[in-house]
Amino acid sequence: MAYCRKCGNMIPDTSTYCTHCGNPTSPSAQTKPNQQGLETAIKVMFFISYIP
Ligand SMILES: [Zn+2]
Repeated sequence: MAYCRKCGNMIPDTSTYCTHCGNPTSPSAQTKPNQQGLETAIKVMFFISYIP
């Protein structure tokens, strides 16, 4: 399961686009072995981008 970097909603691994906002998922996020670390990084990036 991946997370949209735009809206933060969960995206199925089979989907190439966010079903909520239509943002395309990162192609490198589908086959990375360390997906948990990647998801954490994305969450951090999303959190940082949320700060005004
Ligand atoms: Zn989205």
